[in-house]
Amino acid sequence: MKYNSTRNKDLIVSAGEAIARGISPDGGLYVPEKFPKLMDLKDLINMTYKELAAYVLDLYFEELGTEKLIEASKAAYDNKFPDEVTPIKTIDNISYLELYHGKTLAFKDMALSILPHLLKASLEKLGNKSKIIILVATSGDTGKAALEGFNEIDGIDVIVYYPKDGVSEVQKLQMVTHAGANTHVIAIEGNFDDAQSGVKDIFTDLDFKEQVQEKGYSFSSANSINIGRLIPQIVYYINAYLRLLEKGIINNDSKINITVPTGNFGNVLAAYYAKHMGLPIDKLIVASNDNKVLTDFFETGEYDKERELLLTSSPSMDILISSNLERLLYHITDGDYKKVAEAMGKLNTDNKYIWEEFGDDEFFAAYAKEEDVSNSISDVFNQGYTIDPHTAVAHFAAKEYIRRTGDRTHMLIASTASPFKFPAKVLSSIGEVVPDEEFESLKLLSEKMKVEMPESLKELPNLSVKHKDVYKPEEMRLSILEIIQEKKHVKD
Ligand SMILES: *Cc1c(COP(=O)(O)O)cnc(C)c1O
Repeated sequence: MKYNSTRNKDLIVSAGEAIARGISPDGGLYVPEKFPKLMDLKDLINMTYKELAAYVLDLYFEELGTEKLIEASKAAYDNKFPDEVTPIKTIDNISYLELYHGKTLAFKDMALSILPHLLKASLEKLGNKSKIIILVATSGDTGKAALEGFNEIDGIDVIVYYPKDGVSEVQKLQMVTHAGANTHVIAIEGNFDDAQSGVKDIFTDLDFKEQVQEKGYSFSSANSINIGRLIPQIVYYINAYLRLLEKGIINNDSKINITVPTGNFGNVLAAYYAKHMGLPIDKLIVASNDNKVLTDFFETGEYDKERELLLTSSPSMDILISSNLERLLYHITDGDYKKVAEAMGKLNTDNKYIWEEFGDDEFFAAYAKEEDVSNSISDVFNQGYTIDPHTAVAHFAAKEYIRRTGDRTHMLIASTASPFKFPAKVLSSIGEVVPDEEFESLKLLSEKMKVEMPESLKELPNLSVKHKDVYKPEEMRLSILEIIQEKKHVKD
């Protein structure tokens, strides 16, 4: 399987190169030349999660070696996760796919547990000997998941940039208390888009790349623009379908709809990939919060990022530039890279583009306002189940879809974060007074849910803050040079 840029079909690279580079030098994203077809579901149903992961990865990254991919899957989805890896809870014809049982309590763990292994295999394959710096822009969850995934991995440093006032208290604490000599966490005086644009800018700045290369380093990305993150996310949709089949919740070949709380469009795109590999999926529902760029886009065909970025209770979706949408545009036009490049150019210069003849009925989009989020949390809580604000956005959009269409196809909702990651919003939604102390909120939530607090949060208040640096978006290059400099001093 070869990969090419969404902005130039002739820029073809191997799987290893696509993973190691993260983004194409022309600013495009790497896409597979075709969608491989799944074998018969009957032959997949007895596979464990690890086996299924190795199988799917092998369809896309065969060149890294089947044995390597099996090893990587085993190492990634070990006892960091529960036995089922991604448990499913079904209430009233809606199934919640719990993707948050990894170390950092959000779905980003699913891909970031395996990406480091894929990256190492890619670098080996390419014979790349330079040290790697992983640049990460985070809207809250990717950061900690990358710190965990890459922790103490030889020859790789991770620098995480998070919007100073744009993440939840638990998210921030998880990151700034992270120990590990190869990890760096930096607050950016700006929002997520500033951080993400800064990182993308650095990736395509050839002069700066050269400057860093002279010091023995090269860059790679752990953001969802990296194809090595997208592909592992396909696995849990296939696995979910098989488990629903096994439990008799759906029948052979019956289709399901999937609702995904969406920010950078990575997670919902993985479901689209699964569909085009042959998984019986009908509609994909793209759920947004008040930052409803995508809802507007799917409704009108105009993508307009010229608006204020609002801070919501689902911070991991507070995004106006939804990077992976570029991949979808490429696929739905059968690889019309010129059209994609033109649209992306317009987004850059005019802050907007119009996509005519979208005419795609695979998708439905809806958004949830804050009160819709609260109501969804409270409604589901009254059914005996607790969801976090991101999942609540999806719940609202799913209900909106069902209300408007009457479609009773079984609905799978990607449940992307543990409610324990956002205790204040969950508590206020279910009518509780929110304590001032975050940790008190966690304890209260645990009582209300009658579920024990996850271990990784119990220790959080006792950890010391290790990362205090704050930079302006235009100082991101400087922050990298300082880190390289510092490392040199330590060695000297
Ligand atoms: C990252 C994230 C999302 C958005 O996922 P994308 O792949 O960026 O669309 C939704 N919910 C949570 C909890 C997240 O961490």
